[in-house]
Parts: sequence; structure tokens; C-alpha cells
Amino acid sequence: MNLEDRVIIITGASSGIGEATAKKLSKHGASVVLMARSKDKLEKLRDTITNNGGKAIAVSGDVTKSDDFKNAVSDTVKAYGKVDGLINNAGLMPLSFVEKLKTDEWDKMVDVNIKGVLNGVSAVLPELINNEGGDIINISSMAAHAYFPGGAVYCATKSAVKMFSEGLRQELAPKYGINVTSIEPGAVATNLTSTITDEDIKEKISGMQEMKTLESEDIANAIYYALTQPKHVNINDVFIVPSEQK
Ligand code: NDP
Repeated sequence: MNLEDRVIIITGASSGIGEATAKKLSKHGASVVLMARSKDKLEKLRDTITNNGGKAIAVSGDVTKSDDFKNAVSDTVKAYGKVDGLINNAGLMPLSFVEKLKTDEWDKMVDVNIKGVLNGVSAVLPELINNEGGDIINISSMAAHAYFPGGAVYCATKSAVKMFSEGLRQELAPKYGINVTSIEPGAVATNLTSTITDEDIKEKISGMQEMKTLESEDIANAIYYALTQPKHVNINDVFIVPSEQK
């Protein structure tokens, strides 16, 4: 149980990578704080974890609202007395070609994928400093390494997350003992494509469904690896893709 006594907030915990990560970390002793908008799903996951002997609380909230994040942090401190880590995982991927001008979807991606991460860091940082160290793990993407069709805005948001992570690491790790990791997955079998409204993109990505993708548990394992290193070891980036993905 090598995450015993570690208190970790996970955003986007109501499905996919966030849910698998909550299960994995709690299985190894962490107290997990589940944050997303879907209260029912969070409560169900909390019950599953606690019924299996783990520790979890559910805090519904929207990462685009800085007050929701502040509440999540104060609920965490009330329940467990401290915060040791934040996994900024919540994200959206409504891919579309730029010429379609789906500007509402561009705004949503900027708000959730970038501003959501900034809100998380600003809410949690005073606690991590107070705690004399901790971990911030940001879920970027393979999209930070290469453009793919319909991904101009999404790839830009994930590039921002990757570079923000590097800035955070350089500013926080040496001074405060706060280690920072950017995780950059290729295709993972989750609900992420469910927000796509551009029919041309839906057709294009249908081919990808034949590939053997990663599972959410593969990313949870990478997160676990980053979190279980000795304090003097910072895992900067984990670029992890399906063997079949080019
Ligand atoms: P899912 O769609 O399964 O999960 C997305 C999660 O984000 C949900 O729990 C959703 O919860 C949450 N979320 C969305 N908007 C908000 C919001 N405003 N406030 C709080 N939570 C929100 O997809 P994944 O598990 O795949 O996605 C997790 C992360 O992994 C994302 O950042 C994604 O970009 C990244 N990623 C995924 C890849 C993939 O192939 N699947 C590849 C590379 C990166 P709710 O709706 O309840 O709020």
C-alpha cells in the first residue's frame, strides 16, 4: 500500500481515465477525492471504492469554475486534513475542422482543457506548499506532439498543458518539492469522442476503431508510476501510445 496517507484530488473522475485512476490509487492506499460534474456517477464510484476497503469522497464541481475547485480543496482538507496531489485529468475533445467555425466548441476546450488546469493549480498550490511538497499530474496528450485532422484547437490546448507542466516543474520542484508530470497518451478507449459534432470527423475517426487502443487502466498505471517514485525523482513526461498507433 505504497500510497498510504497520500490524499489525491482527481478531476474528471466520473469516467474513463479518471475513474480507472481513482480505482488504482485507492487500491494502493491513497485517499482519493473524486471531482467532476456528474454527481451520481461520482457517488457510485465512491461507494464502489469504499465497499472495497478504499478511502474516497465525491465532490461534484466544474473545473471551469474556480470557486468549485476552491470548495473541492476545502472539502478535502476537512475530510483528510491535507492535500498531497492533484491529477488534472478533466478534458473534452470536440474535434472539428477550423473552417466549420464551431467557436463555441473551441471556447469549451480552452475553458476545460486549459483554464480548468490553471484553476486546479491555483486552488491546490497553497495547500501543497503548506504540505512541504506533493505532486501535480496533468493529462496532456499525444496531440501535444502532432496535429491530427480536426485537432487544431484540441492539439493547441494539449500543447499548452504540456508546456505549462514544464514551467510548473521548473518553478515548483526545486523550490517546494512539488513534482510535476505531463502524461501524453495516444488513443485510449473512453467516451472522449462523444462530444464530436462534426460529421466529417466522425467518419474519419471511425477507422481508428479497428486499432487496438490503450485502456484507461494503462494510463492509471503510468500515473501510479509517476506518483510512486522517490521524492528526488521527477518524471517529466510520459508519452504512451498503443503499439499499433502511428
Ligand atoms: P472521458 O470523456 O471518459 O472523461 C472526461 C472526464 O472529464 C469526465 O469525467 C467528465 O466528467 C470530465 N469533465 C468534462 N468537463 C468537465 C468540467 N467542466 N468540469 C469537471 N469535469 C469535467 O474521457 P477520457 O477519460 O479519455 O479523458 C480524460 C483526459 O484524458 C482528458 O483530458 C483527455 O483530453 C485526455 N486524453 C484522452 C485520450 C483518449 O484517447 N481517450 C488520449 C489523450 C488524452 P463530467 O462530464 O461528469 O463532468
